[in-house]
Amino acid sequence: MATLLVILAHPDDESFGPGGTLAKYAYHGTAVHYLCGTRGESGTVDVRHLNGYADVAELRTAELMCAAKTLRLAGVHFLGYRDSGMAGAVGNGAPGTLHAAPLDEVAERIAGFIEQLQPDAIITHDQYGGYGHPDHIKLHQATLRAYELRYGITWKLEPNGLWSVLGQNAPAPRLYFTVIPKRLLKLAVRIMPLFRLDPRRFGRNQDIDLVQIASWDVPITTRIDTRRYARIKQAASDCHASQQLPTARNRLVRFLFRRNQGFEYFARAYPPYRRGEKLETGLFGD
Ligand SMILES: [Zn+2]
Repeated sequence: MATLLVILAHPDDESFGPGGTLAKYAYHGTAVHYLCGTRGESGTVDVRHLNGYADVAELRTAELMCAAKTLRLAGVHFLGYRDSGMAGAVGNGAPGTLHAAPLDEVAERIAGFIEQLQPDAIITHDQYGGYGHPDHIKLHQATLRAYELRYGITWKLEPNGLWSVLGQNAPAPRLYFTVIPKRLLKLAVRIMPLFRLDPRRFGRNQDIDLVQIASWDVPITTRIDTRRYARIKQAASDCHASQQLPTARNRLVRFLFRRNQGFEYFARAYPPYRRGEKLETGLFGD
């Protein structure tokens, strides 16, 4: 049985991000483990969601467990850090946060889970942290560092956006980054103002700049057909009731999200993607 390890920063990143892919593999017998960087404790939630929970961490852990059950994950593990807000937010860098933790410490903890779970493939955030969240970027960097520590891999980011390996002393699991496809996003930022939506102030806290995100091109090496898992992904996303976008009520936003739901996109970093290689449709060389 193959094992897939997903390393993302917050409870909800697994469902809102590659949820269809995780469900697809889990439903086909792959052991899919989620290693979550934090419990999302500094996120803002509407107080009505806190009913029955001691605090935000407990609420969001319960939401994650609901999603994990829906996606049929084999296990949920925590790196044990606290989360932070978007770049420049108050409280970022406080003691105990992923943001403030030394990179090698985070990398060592990740390497420990790799040792324990022996994954065949790993998924984490891309170098832009998807939409720029500092916790996502930190986990991306720490995962690359874990490969350096454990497999002696020296990375090089090529000017074309693909990763190459300069040296290595042991075989390593396949490594993928989640990628937000930019084509539809570029269209969205052009038409959002027509619907009186500001693409530079998007999200629950209006701190996501879609114009900037659309400019972050990451080459897509892998496209997974998740159309048959769209309902499972939606059900897992619904578990994260405290984290729904207020703009999800907007018809345009709903339409764009739905258009994006049939496929999920990744950039393969290891083994390095060779120029001219065709688009992959699976994570295990399948
Ligand atoms: Zn996140």
